[in-house]
Amino acid sequence: MSRALSADPFSLAKGLDSIRAAGRFRTRHTVTSAQGAVLRADGRNYINFSGNDYLGMANDGRVVQALQSAAAVYGAGSGASQLICGYSRAHEHLEQALAQQLGRSRAVLFSSGYLANLAVVTTFAARREDVVVMDRENHASLIDGALLARAGLRRYRHLDVAELDSLCGNGRSLVATDGVFSMDGSIAPLPEITAICARRRALLAVDDAHGFCVLGKDGGGTPEHYSLDQTQVPVLMGTFGKACGVSGAFVAGPDDVIETLIQTGRPYIYTTAMPPALAAAISESLVIITRESWRREKLRALVARFIRGARELGLPLIPSETHIQGLLAGSGEAAVRTSDRLRERGFWVNAIRPPTVAKNTERLRITLSAGHSEEQVDCLLDALAQVEKRQQP
Ligand SMILES: *Cc1c(COP(=O)(O)O)cnc(C)c1O
Repeated sequence: MSRALSADPFSLAKGLDSIRAAGRFRTRHTVTSAQGAVLRADGRNYINFSGNDYLGMANDGRVVQALQSAAAVYGAGSGASQLICGYSRAHEHLEQALAQQLGRSRAVLFSSGYLANLAVVTTFAARREDVVVMDRENHASLIDGALLARAGLRRYRHLDVAELDSLCGNGRSLVATDGVFSMDGSIAPLPEITAICARRRALLAVDDAHGFCVLGKDGGGTPEHYSLDQTQVPVLMGTFGKACGVSGAFVAGPDDVIETLIQTGRPYIYTTAMPPALAAAISESLVIITRESWRREKLRALVARFIRGARELGLPLIPSETHIQGLLAGSGEAAVRTSDRLRERGFWVNAIRPPTVAKNTERLRITLSAGHSEEQVDCLLDALAQVEKRQQP
């Protein structure tokens, strides 16, 4: 360690040591293959149960071809933010296709879901007297949006709609929830939440990063799963980096909602537009995903197979009916140990620890994909059984 750093007035080295001492230090593994059910890293192959490529689209040849063809026309970069000169026909086409597919008046694109959530919360809770009401397990980007906004932040216990109701203010309230929660796979009870928002005259924003493309008959996500339209879910956010297999995000809803984001959303205005070629790749992926419903059906069958097998083994599953499955580990160290032992056996499954989840709920986060085979799921279950057995005293 360098002398200069140890004398550093910000005590960075000490801060890093305390992260290590708390067992929260995280390391990256360099992947040398495309995304898929099998990942290559550290010179060997792993069966991947940790990604968000839920429908196996990230390396689909047709999507890659669409990206290459559009890059040949539009080049690599978008050149500017959307309001300057970075908004292309490829972006416009994607917005229109999304709005039509989701039964919304309009849609607007963002460079990432993180930015889309910052824009939603800072735009619709911009006044000091506004209130933002959120599920405690909402994604970090929604919480960061509330920290950036001037409004007061109130959080309710995970999925507790009675507490949500009690936290809405008499003035303007923005209620924000994940559609499918990223760390336990639970689905937000949107029918109850939309009823409360209607009664309280609150604005509802749903972050459907994990539901979009997967839930609902046509992949319309959590709102389609519950048959909710844009009067009930006026602010619908989704991302393209998960089931859609590319990158970026959108918000869809009524004209006033979308135009307000375009006119005043700083995380929309002050950032470079996503490359047009990405917009073209996303459009192609969405066409395929809508048409190939077998991907959603296969994923559902694999989820059912995993849950059945895990129950037979008596594994400590966190209740979830979706493609995100959590296995409680007991502690951060136990979660890392199990993850390491699975890695030795050729499975990539991540340990999730604080601050991503609350203390004492450390877990393995297992994600299933239509890209997996039944055999790969069965092999994972075998490996989990072996690892659990070794763990017992
Ligand atoms: C991944 C994720 C985001 C952020 O989306 P990015 O496009 O990766 O920035 C937001 N919300 C939820 C629930 C997510 O899982």
